[in-house]
Amino acid sequence: MVLYESTRGGNERITSAEAIKRGIAPDGGLYTPCSLKKLNLEEIQALADMTYPQRAVTILKYFLDDFSDEEIRDCVNSAYSHKFSHEKVAPVVELNESLFLLELWHGPTCAFKDMALQILPHLLVKSMQKTGEKSKVIILVATSGDTGKAALEGFADVEGTGIIVFYPDNGVSEVQKYQMITQTGKNVRVFGVKGNFDDAQTGVKKIFTDNELKSFMNERKLKFSSANSINWGRLVPQIVYYFSAYADLVEENRIKAGDKINFVVPTGNFGNILAGYYALKMGLPVNKLICASNDNNVLTDFIRTGCYDRRREFIKTVSPSMDILISSNLERLLYEVTSHDGKKVSQWMKELNENGSYDIGRKYADEIRNIFWAGWSNQDETLKTIECVYNDYNYVLDTHTAVAVDVYDKYVITTGDLTPSVVVSTASPFKFNHSVCKALFGEDRIAGKSEFELLEMLSKETGLPIPDGLADLDKKEILHNSVCEKEGMKDAVVRNLLEWE
Ligand SMILES: *Cc1c(COP(=O)(O)O)cnc(C)c1O
Repeated sequence: MVLYESTRGGNERITSAEAIKRGIAPDGGLYTPCSLKKLNLEEIQALADMTYPQRAVTILKYFLDDFSDEEIRDCVNSAYSHKFSHEKVAPVVELNESLFLLELWHGPTCAFKDMALQILPHLLVKSMQKTGEKSKVIILVATSGDTGKAALEGFADVEGTGIIVFYPDNGVSEVQKYQMITQTGKNVRVFGVKGNFDDAQTGVKKIFTDNELKSFMNERKLKFSSANSINWGRLVPQIVYYFSAYADLVEENRIKAGDKINFVVPTGNFGNILAGYYALKMGLPVNKLICASNDNNVLTDFIRTGCYDRRREFIKTVSPSMDILISSNLERLLYEVTSHDGKKVSQWMKELNENGSYDIGRKYADEIRNIFWAGWSNQDETLKTIECVYNDYNYVLDTHTAVAVDVYDKYVITTGDLTPSVVVSTASPFKFNHSVCKALFGEDRIAGKSEFELLEMLSKETGLPIPDGLADLDKKEILHNSVCEKEGMKDAVVRNLLEWE
């Protein structure tokens, strides 16, 4: 049986349902599997004949072995059988003979967060039932853009849940804002906050630990939970698509079963690429995991030197979903490379908290570099990459994926390695249309145009259809127009919970 333990040590081992229900360990650590199933080549090859939902059931079973097959199938089907606009869910497309793109943005919100947030609500509800938890779960989210909408779509009308999202009133793009304020569902609520993302995040954290609210919640059989990527239930669905991409390449005769490939991952919180690392540990033939960062290149420095140092300027870039200086999921990698040494991990996390940096030393750094390669792309390079790839291949990259393609080019120049490589593509170019249009058509042609006009322009010029989730967004009914002060977030939550009674 696979049990889960905290990355900060202690002896408690719990089931996957318990880990998903709790989200984060009481000691502040992240739940991580004690052991991993190893797949042999035949088992990996067998995935080639399966659909995406079948691949998902196969892989999830190894991690959620306290769930019945039927429970896993239910969750998988609710998530992947009709919500994605591409029949393959996560298709692999060829750019050239050694470079492929794994498109993870065919879900309802046009970014890869859907891959996990479409299934997490179902895993969470089942986990509550399996652990005898009678409360209704209320998801609180502070978002800088992508996560809020993906969580809203995932939890909308899911029985036994409610979701309240806070976004910085002037801190998200027009498209992102309209995606959220037009969200339907009888258990969803969205608030703008007069402040920045940090204010919203701090407000949510305060609500989680407010004692007065705790008794209010207990009396009503309600329980707060979070939907961010420290929850194992958000990480585990991401392991599936690494296997799926490999199986597709085998099925299409691009590689032979057993051949190694590289994955290039545009990285922020380190959740996506960590899922690739678990796939590798389970036996997927991977040569290198290439970690691509934007100007906030704290991970590039870490992987190159073994020293993590967040004491640097935060830079707002054209790939905003990767603008992050504390990559929470790195903690799970540290736990793995130290062979589950919770004491060491706790010490480093304490240093990060107190001094803003830690150093893991030569031995572990070498071990990480055996598997990972790291690079970064500045904003000019990122936009230039969008332009070049469009000219050379007639393919439109979003800004995050462009960071990864640029870093891949740097990897090839530095190492000469021409192993077939898969760039993990994390968003539709329509979602970040302002920067994409600027890269393709120049500043002059987009001047004065709204984001909704740019959607049309991008579609007309490239011949690509505007994705369903984004089309006519400005004509949809606005259902959530409340804006609150940052001090007023708790009141907003309480009033809303009373309304829902
Ligand atoms: C969240 C996000 C990322 C970063 O993924 P992590 O798992 O946080 O590393 C990259 N690109 C897009 C479009 C995202 O929304």
